[in-house]
Amino acid sequence: MIADQHLHLERGPYTPENYPDEWVDRYLEAAAQAGVSRLGVVEHAYRFHEARGLLDNAWADARCLYRLDSYLAFVERQKARGVPISFGLEMDYVPGAEEGIARFLGLYPWDFVHGSVHFVGDIGIDLADHRERAAALGRRAVWDKYFESSRMAVRSGLFDVLTHPDLPKIFGEQAEHSLLEDFRRTAQALKAQDMALECNTAGLRKPVGEIYPVPEYLAAARAAGVPVSIGSDAHEPENVGAGFPAAVSLVQSAGYDEAVHFIGRRRISAPLS
Ligand SMILES: [Zn+2]
Ligand SMILES: [Zn+2]
Repeated sequence: MIADQHLHLERGPYTPENYPDEWVDRYLEAAAQAGVSRLGVVEHAYRFHEARGLLDNAWADARCLYRLDSYLAFVERQKARGVPISFGLEMDYVPGAEEGIARFLGLYPWDFVHGSVHFVGDIGIDLADHRERAAALGRRAVWDKYFESSRMAVRSGLFDVLTHPDLPKIFGEQAEHSLLEDFRRTAQALKAQDMALECNTAGLRKPVGEIYPVPEYLAAARAAGVPVSIGSDAHEPENVGAGFPAAVSLVQSAGYDEAVHFIGRRRISAPLS
């Protein structure tokens, strides 16, 4: 059994202010069917008023809608129910925002925190309507800035896991230059901070049609002694554990025989088979 360490609950009428227990139960039922033993819920930090301005752009501002205390009441209710769920956050790393991020993360004892780079400047690299601007910046510059931000995120010491770590390939545009040196340097930074790298299956459901990251990146992480966590990035119950057989064989090919999950900021390893 394996943990799905990257899930979002927000969908349609369900928001971080009003999740009913029945909605959580649908995720738990899907997990049982997919052979997933534990869930890791990581709502996007930018959804909460208390994080306003940390991801400082109009796109995030328009989506900053919810009260953290309402969500935390829900989290506490789930903990009281004893469901096998760890509650973390997917926190955007923004260079220069480290103090504010630390302050926001300190508002609650999260089980773990995902560090994510979704923006290069104010260009959302996974946003279809930002693609023209990304193209104008240039593919090489996008990858270079992405890895620069990723390593700054790691070195900030704020996070437990670096998520979907080769996200710029999302629309199927792979880098035209070798990324091996970036993989190696980022893996070394992860090791130095005792962080994990995420194997994220959402890419299978995106135009690129493949898991994040590529096998060479996982191999670099494995060589550096960096643990791996596995997540579906599901935003709906149907995708809990989606693509996990492929993810498990991918990380096994890189030499891993365990994956990690987190409870109370404590990292726990579990065998893959
Ligand atoms: Zn993400
Ligand atoms: Zn996510």
